Amino acid sequence: MGGEEKLNRDATDSVIEGNEKTPKKKKPKRMPYKMLIKEELYKFFTGTVSPRTRARVRYFLDINRERMLKTLRLKPFLRYVEVHLVDHCNLNCRGCSHFSPIAGEWFADVNQYEKDMRRLTELFRNVNTVRLMGGEPLLHPQIESFVALTKRYFPKADVRVVTNGILLPAMQDLFWEMCRSNSVILDVTVYPPLKGKEQFFRNLANSKSVKTDFHSVSAFSALYNDKGDSDVKRSFLRCRSWQYCPNLREGRLYVCPVPAYVHYFNETFGSHVPEDGWLDIHAQSLSGWDVLALLDKATSACRYCMFGWKPIRTFPWSHSTRSVKDWQATVR
Ligand code: SF4
Ligand code: SF4
Repeated sequence: MGGEEKLNRDATDSVIEGNEKTPKKKKPKRMPYKMLIKEELYKFFTGTVSPRTRARVRYFLDINRERMLKTLRLKPFLRYVEVHLVDHCNLNCRGCSHFSPIAGEWFADVNQYEKDMRRLTELFRNVNTVRLMGGEPLLHPQIESFVALTKRYFPKADVRVVTNGILLPAMQDLFWEMCRSNSVILDVTVYPPLKGKEQFFRNLANSKSVKTDFHSVSAFSALYNDKGDSDVKRSFLRCRSWQYCPNLREGRLYVCPVPAYVHYFNETFGSHVPEDGWLDIHAQSLSGWDVLALLDKATSACRYCMFGWKPIRTFPWSHSTRSVKDWQATVR
């Protein structure tokens, strides 16, 4: 039987038996997944994706790396940590989430910081990003020592000094030299009173061969829920999908800045926002994995936080009046 004849008979049979195959509609061709992934990775590495997408991709990669290390029973890494060098500030922003407008003068201690860094090397294989901040960190007279210590213990870390820029022109050569030789990046937040100064700051840092990252902030949000009835889980989940911001302070690692600095708020306004949500990193028999587990748990302070719970009150930047209203999510 010839091939063509066989094909005809097959077709006839299928019509007779009522199982004629209807020709499939052609689907529009999709880009193969491999190419899609390649394209997204290209965008990611060339910096053309939004910062939010970058953060999400990083988070995804970090989580997977974390899982792998856990399976292999290896020490974990800490993705990110913030450290206050001072609590007070030379700018007085309404709604400052670190409570600097109502903070007293406080300076971090270099010896304590060295002790804490050494302990972190025992708990973690690396800390990916360390942000030295405040308050205004340039107000600390020994800022260079903190920069040098951070890099000594975590040479591979992305170390940043977070500043409002006001004091940059007054910084001594030693500060610039420390930043340059340790590849520290200056994270400059430009608030409305400093608008227009960005290029000046950029030129100054360039002349010292120090890298900078700028971002402008012209609005703030009020997050304090004085009723203390926020949905803790929802607030925390939403909060973590936006930010991962553990704070290290005098041997304690806090879930976020709120429990770390809210004592200023409680003292000033007579409120009772819980100040737990931390652990002592020097406690014996503690592992890096124990620390990460704590950082993934909501704290009781989340009950007083409106993050992701209801639409939050935002307002244009202005000086703080140091009244409770500056932080209140709902003003009655
Ligand atoms: S510059 Fe930063 S730390 Fe200082 S008051 Fe403003 S938001 Fe707070
Ligand atoms: S108190 Fe809770 S919800 Fe608010 S910023 Fe901290 S971790 Fe996030």
